[in-house]
Amino acid sequence: MAGIVVIFDFDRTIIDSDSDNWVVTEMGLTPLFNELRSSMPWNSLMDRMMMELHSQGKTVSDIGECLKRAFIQPGIITAIKSAFALGCDLRIISDANQFFVKTILQHHGVLGCFSHISTNPSYVDEEGKLRIFPYHDLNLPPHGCNLCPSNMCKGFVIDQIRVSASESERRRFIYIGDGTGDFCPSLKLRSEDFVMPRKDFPLWKHIHSNKKLIKAQIHEWSNGEELEKALLHIINTIST
Ligand SMILES: [Mg+2]
Ligand SMILES: [Zn+2]
Repeated sequence: MAGIVVIFDFDRTIIDSDSDNWVVTEMGLTPLFNELRSSMPWNSLMDRMMMELHSQGKTVSDIGECLKRAFIQPGIITAIKSAFALGCDLRIISDANQFFVKTILQHHGVLGCFSHISTNPSYVDEEGKLRIFPYHDLNLPPHGCNLCPSNMCKGFVIDQIRVSASESERRRFIYIGDGTGDFCPSLKLRSEDFVMPRKDFPLWKHIHSNKKLIKAQIHEWSNGEELEKALLHIINTIST
């Protein structure tokens, strides 16, 4: 459906776990992670974790194999494919990183459904090591949003999507997420938009304790099948 922008968070929304925590736990990095946690910004810490894996002889493809095992609930992949088939513009705004997000979406055959993925950048360097950096360059002036972590304001990304649309092009947003970082973008939504918080997760709690601040219509979901049903219902409602 032209004019509908569906924005997905990634961790605990598309995949059932947090991809950073998944890799740390599954690849045996928990003790080092806990030791360094309080002394480093999150992205630097994840970059350091990747360095640790490489120093143990693990490769980028080992990390990829670990990511491919992350569980996705039934309904999520079909929801993505259906929304794409209906002509919606699908996007991801995630505080994970490019490599983690793209590896998992590709594995499940839906990477091509997304027009944009806004997340912390990553690349494989000349030595074959995976490097992870903040979305918002920490050497630049701060993004100025006190709701969001210093490396990424998801509401800022929503503002950018809005300004990229021409005046005549009226777009309606459907935002799907679970975490505290999804509250700022939810506040940017308008009355013709929709927010889909995962029930009993932090975003849902923030929304329910600040209902007057939310202009968008709220549709909660608990599992993949509910997400699929609610999302397709909203798309159908907008289209008719
Ligand atoms: Mg999340
Ligand atoms: Zn923000």
